[in-house]
Amino acid sequence: MVKNNISKPRLFLLSSFIAIAFSCFVYRLIDWQVFKGEELRIRANFNAIYDIPIKAIRGEILDENGVSLAVNEVVYQVVFDRFKIQEESLNKEISFLIDLFKKKKQKWIDNLPIVIKDGKFVFLEPSNPNDEEEKKKIERNIELLKGPDVLNLNSYASAEECMLNLFDRFKLSDNESLEKKRDIASLRARMIMEHFDTGEAKMFVFANGLTGEMTSIVSGLSGGFSFRVNNDMKRKIRNSTLLSHILGTVGKLSKDDYEELKSKGYALNDVTGQYGIERALEKELRGKNGRKVIEITKEGEIKSQLIKEEVVHGDTVFLTINAHLQKVANESVERNVLASTSKSAGAVVVLRVDDFSVLAAATYPNYDLAKYKKDSKYYNKLVSDNVNKPLLNRCFDDAYEPGSAFKVVVACAGLQEGLINMKHSVHCSRGWYLPGSTHHVPCMGYHGNIEVQRAIFVSCNAFFLDTAHRLGIDKICEYAKKFGLGVKTGVEIHETVGSLAHPDRRRELGGKWYPTDTAFAGIGQSDNMFSPLQLATYAATVANDGVRCMTHLVRKRTDYLRKDTVFENDPKNPQVVDNLDVSKENMEIVREGMYWNCTKGTASNPFASYNISLASKTGTSQNPSGIDHKVIIVYGPTNDKGAVTTEGPYKDFPPIAVASVIPKGGTYNQTYKYITRDIFDAYFKGVGKDVKFD
Ligand SMILES: [Zn+2]
Repeated sequence: MVKNNISKPRLFLLSSFIAIAFSCFVYRLIDWQVFKGEELRIRANFNAIYDIPIKAIRGEILDENGVSLAVNEVVYQVVFDRFKIQEESLNKEISFLIDLFKKKKQKWIDNLPIVIKDGKFVFLEPSNPNDEEEKKKIERNIELLKGPDVLNLNSYASAEECMLNLFDRFKLSDNESLEKKRDIASLRARMIMEHFDTGEAKMFVFANGLTGEMTSIVSGLSGGFSFRVNNDMKRKIRNSTLLSHILGTVGKLSKDDYEELKSKGYALNDVTGQYGIERALEKELRGKNGRKVIEITKEGEIKSQLIKEEVVHGDTVFLTINAHLQKVANESVERNVLASTSKSAGAVVVLRVDDFSVLAAATYPNYDLAKYKKDSKYYNKLVSDNVNKPLLNRCFDDAYEPGSAFKVVVACAGLQEGLINMKHSVHCSRGWYLPGSTHHVPCMGYHGNIEVQRAIFVSCNAFFLDTAHRLGIDKICEYAKKFGLGVKTGVEIHETVGSLAHPDRRRELGGKWYPTDTAFAGIGQSDNMFSPLQLATYAATVANDGVRCMTHLVRKRTDYLRKDTVFENDPKNPQVVDNLDVSKENMEIVREGMYWNCTKGTASNPFASYNISLASKTGTSQNPSGIDHKVIIVYGPTNDKGAVTTEGPYKDFPPIAVASVIPKGGTYNQTYKYITRDIFDAYFKGVGKDVKFD
């Protein structure tokens, strides 16, 4: 059930905020009219027209039930408005604010890389001499200050020279203290760096995150100033370890981004989605800025104002992710990876079978998205960790050998192409001989004459090597793609296409294709590598009668206030992208084999005694570097033929498909299966459901 989890007080708050945002400029202008001071008399002697942007509020991102993931928080700031600035009084106004903030022991934004030490100007030193990142940042700032945009001085100019130039340029008189002159110069230099002096930026932020007291003091100042209190929206990550790899962040535009995006109405101080959902849905989340034109008389009164373009706030995005299931998945992957042989990494993806929506996608190692944004040391540690790669979305962006989990593709293709039937058998002599050669490929067991269903549940290599060899690599690829393997699943954010074994692919990789490769591809080896997302899509396709729908992360979008739905991926009407066209009878043969895999095959531990009936296929792929990779695809609940069912105790829960991967999981390690069981426990039995989210 998708609910708009929005309480009445919250709706009221949102509405009030928007009302305030709208009226903000008008309020200050009325305030301004009261002012009859000196500056006003020297303003232009004619009516002036100002074109003012009305900033759209970025849409919020929530889970399917409205649990907050990326939301907005109101912050108050002191800003200067370009259209009010008077050069003659600017230093005085800045000085006034500095005195006020100092008196109240409050901070303002000061980026100038020059400080006063023993009465002399010196360049700033990093607080920790070993902090290379801070050192580089300071160097960049000094370079920018001396550069052609600001001071246009030689690169070896001293701090003293820089300051004297700034004082001269901004006409800072000797009546002021050195410290005050430095502080004013710092702000004025930043105005240049942020293109406020040219008017390209309409607003300049003096201080951010005002306390309640400061907000009321600055708001209460009688008019006549070119600064005012502005309420801005700051992105806030909630439940910050829940969905880090998928959610993504927003960040300031780089200079290149700005050049590219300014034609789309972006301002220099705008933010944009950097990756994940924030990036993929940038257009929808951003909304559309409005614009109004006001006409000010020479007496400083508003003569007229006209909304030229209505502001459209960004859409609120409801993901298909279920926060409860996601949390269980995160914890289970971590716990089970740490219990595995390598203790290094793991991933699990959960899809709903009827519409291919992603209910959970957990990657280990995980990270804290809020800390990633705020803490530069934490950020540097994450980006420089090339061993554990904590920022890598292992569910969507990394690919693993599927091993025997791939055999279902070959079973479906072999049956449908008429190369095998239910009774067709292959002889397994603890392996298989490539026809016409003495090359023997081993099987884990001695299976004698074996047919397709037993070959699935005991995972006999011989049967699938033989069937794959007879099918040929083109046919295998044709079916694999229909399952979503080696092709994009369609999910909204970045995903890898994986690697589908084929002579063309081998050529791309710079190698030679051998006659045994087709057979090896049939047991999930050769160059086959897929993402956990692709493997989950594959499992869901088996469960969904061979019909593959678009895998997706967005349940719906509403307007900002969450009242009207503007877009929906309707679970009852999913977008079909492919169809295997495997007959019902053939599909049933394969699925029954997968059901037996859980009751008496390679997944019977831990599923044989489990009280939800499931169907699965496991995979172990030998890793040349030593420790085996572990893969499982599983779906349920099923009947005893391996077909998904909505009958029985779990009729209110649509069936799900799960893929779990533990690279270097280990030869006899079962932990990858326990991850999937934790998912079924959480989804169908509500285990861990009492958790509270922010
Ligand atoms: Zn065998």
